[in-house]
Amino acid sequence: MSSLFKNYARRPVHLVKGQGTVVTDDTGKNYLDFISGIAVVSLGHAHPAIVHAIQQQSEKLWHVSNLFESPEQEELASALMKDTHLSHAFFCNSGAEANEAAIKLVRKHTKKNIIITFEQSFHGRTFGAMSATGQDKVRQGFGPLLETFRIVPYNDIQQLEAAIDNDVAAIMLEVIQGEGGVHQLDVDFAQSIKDICKSTGILLIADEVQTGIGRTGTRYAYEQTQLKPDIITIAKGLGGGFPIGAMLGTAELVDSFGPGTHGTTFGGNPLAVAVAQCVVNHVFRTDFLQQVEEKSSYLIKKLQTLLPKELFSIRGSGLLLGIECKDAVQTFIHQAEEKGLLLVQAGEHVIRLLPPLTVTNEQIDEAIGILSSVLVSVLAPKQF
Ligand SMILES: *Cc1c(COP(=O)(O)O)cnc(C)c1O
Repeated sequence: MSSLFKNYARRPVHLVKGQGTVVTDDTGKNYLDFISGIAVVSLGHAHPAIVHAIQQQSEKLWHVSNLFESPEQEELASALMKDTHLSHAFFCNSGAEANEAAIKLVRKHTKKNIIITFEQSFHGRTFGAMSATGQDKVRQGFGPLLETFRIVPYNDIQQLEAAIDNDVAAIMLEVIQGEGGVHQLDVDFAQSIKDICKSTGILLIADEVQTGIGRTGTRYAYEQTQLKPDIITIAKGLGGGFPIGAMLGTAELVDSFGPGTHGTTFGGNPLAVAVAQCVVNHVFRTDFLQQVEEKSSYLIKKLQTLLPKELFSIRGSGLLLGIECKDAVQTFIHQAEEKGLLLVQAGEHVIRLLPPLTVTNEQIDEAIGILSSVLVSVLAPKQF
């Protein structure tokens, strides 16, 4: 009998250690980790620089709260926003918390109530973030939800335009919907969002909790679009496995979050900031991001060779990729796990690939080998 709430469908595997892209269970079996703790372990498991950063910081100072100045948070904030149009950061502990901060900030700043979000989106499990999320399975049983959110179909310009009125404070979106099935923002749709925001003054929040910090091959995914969000939220990959989130915003918004308006006890604590600084120092290097792009192209090419277009569609960017299958994918994921490859789904029909950004081409080859062996029944249906 488990003493834990049953809110997770846990797999019967007990992982006890990890090194780079490889994790090991309590029987000594190795797996290639193409989940990365859901896009979190960006530099792989037990990266020596991260281990060093947390060891060093743990001997100096763990926690003092945000009652005190923090040059370390300042330094991390500058590194995160260097050469962007964003200028101020708020640190917290998770993606949902970063989104809550964004929701509060745009409401306070604009004095308007409505935030437009999208079908299949995922913004987190807290009450505001859940209400923002456009998936029934996340919301079911918790109503009545907040009426702040107007949820419209993703990539549908007409319906977006129809949802715009004077009550709208902001539009909140994922540049690639990660949990919702690895759906990408259309270029035309991005352009109309840009036009709407420009002509109405509606603010734009990019939820980069999954796509940010190099996951899609650029520092942030919005950099691959024409969008210029007023706020971006990040978390997952930022701490490389240590919990930390952040909301980054433009200078215009600063006065709406004055002393006492918002806060968190743990946000940006010295341990979290030391680790995140180390992650950002690695990931934001041009050559590192270039390598993410190269590995992504390598992986996509292999997938395209293996998987016929009629049966599979491959979507995503960088090392956030989705393979949409005609069949439900859960069985494939179980089989891959048995053969030593950890994968996660994004909706019923999409296999998501989220290896550490440090994955090697050899590990990609090995993963593709396992993937092709479990997809063989779909690739070559038995002839009778
Ligand atoms: C995971 C995720 C969240 C929620 O982050 P938590 O750290 O689990 O609260 C929010 N938005 C997106 C896009 C995510 O992928």
